[in-house]
Amino acid sequence: MNKPTQQNLFQPDDLPEAPTSWERAAASDQLAAQVVFNRPLDTAFHYLIPDELRGMLNPGQRVKAPFGRGDRPIVGFCVGVGPVPDTGRKLKSIDSVLDREPLLSSRMLDLTHWIAERYLCPWGIVLESVVPAGVKKQAGTRMITCYTAAENLTERLKNVKLPTKQQAVIDVLLDAGQPLAIDELTEAASCGTGPLNSLKKKGFIQAVRRRSEPSATDFGATEQQPDLKLNEEQQRALGTIVDCLRSQQHQTFLLHGVTGSGKTEVYIQAIREVVSYGRQAIVLVPEISLTPQTIRRFRCRFDSVAVLHSHLSDAERHWQWQQIASGAVQVIVGARSAIFAPAPQLGLIVIDEEHESTFKQETAPRYHTREVARERARAANIPLVLGTATPTLESWLRARQKKDALISLSRRIGNRPMPPVVIVDVRNDPHITKGAAIGRALASTMRAALNDGGQVILFLNVRGYCPVLWCRACGQAVKCPHCDISLTWHKSRNVALCHSCEFNTVPPTHCPTCNAAGVRSLGVGTQRLEQEVRSRFPNYRTLRMDSDSMRKPGSHDEALQQFGAGDVQILLGTQMIAKGLDFPNVTLVGVIDADTILHQPDLRASERTFQLIAQVAGRTGRGERGGRVLVQTSSPAEPAILQAAEHDFISFAEQELGHRKGRGVPPFEHLARVILRGADEPMVQQSARDMAKTLQQTAEEMGSNVRVLGPAPAPLTRLKAMFRYHLQLAHIEFEEIQRLWNEAIGRFPRAKDVEFVIDVDPYNMR
Ligand SMILES: [Zn+2]
Ligand SMILES: [Zn+2]
Repeated sequence: MNKPTQQNLFQPDDLPEAPTSWERAAASDQLAAQVVFNRPLDTAFHYLIPDELRGMLNPGQRVKAPFGRGDRPIVGFCVGVGPVPDTGRKLKSIDSVLDREPLLSSRMLDLTHWIAERYLCPWGIVLESVVPAGVKKQAGTRMITCYTAAENLTERLKNVKLPTKQQAVIDVLLDAGQPLAIDELTEAASCGTGPLNSLKKKGFIQAVRRRSEPSATDFGATEQQPDLKLNEEQQRALGTIVDCLRSQQHQTFLLHGVTGSGKTEVYIQAIREVVSYGRQAIVLVPEISLTPQTIRRFRCRFDSVAVLHSHLSDAERHWQWQQIASGAVQVIVGARSAIFAPAPQLGLIVIDEEHESTFKQETAPRYHTREVARERARAANIPLVLGTATPTLESWLRARQKKDALISLSRRIGNRPMPPVVIVDVRNDPHITKGAAIGRALASTMRAALNDGGQVILFLNVRGYCPVLWCRACGQAVKCPHCDISLTWHKSRNVALCHSCEFNTVPPTHCPTCNAAGVRSLGVGTQRLEQEVRSRFPNYRTLRMDSDSMRKPGSHDEALQQFGAGDVQILLGTQMIAKGLDFPNVTLVGVIDADTILHQPDLRASERTFQLIAQVAGRTGRGERGGRVLVQTSSPAEPAILQAAEHDFISFAEQELGHRKGRGVPPFEHLARVILRGADEPMVQQSARDMAKTLQQTAEEMGSNVRVLGPAPAPLTRLKAMFRYHLQLAHIEFEEIQRLWNEAIGRFPRAKDVEFVIDVDPYNMR
């Protein structure tokens, strides 16, 4: 790996000054382009711009340029154009320019450069991931033949009398003032292709090739509805955000509102203000296919809402990108990658459910959407709104330190009370000890709620039928042969499945370890819960929602419509049903097992447990009939569970911050986690030791007090047939970690067949 030389790169910030120096250069010298490649290199490379490409190349376009051994031309992004640097070496030339227009504005180039530095990821890799594939290959377009008027046509036709139809074609073309496709031309001139051919033969018109526009897709426009009336708290929240919009200053707001307090209506009316200035807003939601209700709300309040979801085809994505870039879209709703939407006049960014872990990208570049949004909002001098009932401790601490502004919505709409939450200790429950999922108390409360005409939501964070297959003779669980993970029994498909690598096998009847007969199943997944619910409540309709039952696009939306219409009385599922659902007739929410996350080796285990219970509990008590929540647990004294039951985020946050403060962990310190992996365990281990040693020595030389922790085997030591070791860097200032890493990275001893990645501010600690 080359040593990073990003300080040498052309800085897009210099753009306003640049033209003068280019013009000076253009007069005498040649120009050079800086190009970054989709390779693990932190270097930008200089190339000469040949005369025939001069004026065609701008930062943000892709080029082909000779690279590496053999000088094979490969694709890279041009990130700067300027005078040829005085390197003393002869530069190679750009081969070709791939895009007619820049794919990224200078602002977006800046943002990607910021991501590269902040998340210690090569710029070329960031760029590659930010522009959708459909945009790069111009999906949905094709080359078509167009006709344009020949030069001096008006002159040449002065004394010529053309047949009527040919004259009509000429009139249309001169009127249009631009090339027209054959079908556009024949339609406008109401003729066939005959007159075109005659005119072409006479040299009056010329054929040119042009790319067609991508075909339009539906924005899903729906009947518009008026804004809702805000209560006093909402009004105050809106006023604060609007003041900031008008002052054209950047500010991050943490909108902490209890579930059902009407955060979405505040976003919508703030966006109304933004749209009235002719600007656009980006609304980021955790997983787009999971929030059809939210999308509908935006669509019936704004004319043009682009929804960037994962089921878009390349062509649709390309069309939407162009629509957004042209400024035709008012509101862009999407999952994390929508933060890169090319809105030309962005006025506001909203992140809904800011606490969701899906806002962290788990492949390179491993950015956190919240931080990218903060940087984009800062550079554009616009507000960023983070909305949630259960803020991350990162956001909570910033608000407490007054780095961000806190806005609170403490009451539900209509002053509805928060639902009472009952904690049920199931350690001695007669049903549970017999292997059932639903304990005695939950069963009778469900019966009462259903008899009363209410609907029930049951939450269980485990997919499949049984999460563990277990041998009674030797006590071993049946594991994936490639990963350190128990195989989950999916009864309907009769497979034992690894949820990490998708390995699957027929469920073994004999123990793979000791060969004893009689492998038993242990624990309950959603499929088994569904079976139990159906047999216990045969007179009610039950629907299961998890990633196994909701594979088809649109199935999630359809299921929620059924539940909303009251055709289904019991809805059970995984996280999928914990988010954003708003059904007034849900009078009972049951949490089957509150402990699934609590005992994971993760510094955020308590925080996640609190969030999950508070969010699931928020799905009830939204209508006239009120609602209640039952939480089954074997850890009834756990503070995170007790405080979630009290709907007391602030006490939880303060206590948890206290626990973390002395431990040198987030949100007080930044972490960067380095994961090394390879097929040969001793080599991975050795390589991890070498890396830790190099980092320590480098830190000493630099006088840096970044702490180097580890190496140690990762909690998930074996994954997809690779052994994994990790080490961590910790410091209060992120920049110190960055400084150390950039200095040390060129010094790591080369290790064959061991690869490493660095994850800055990691969420996944497995
Ligand atoms: Zn065994
Ligand atoms: Zn596996």
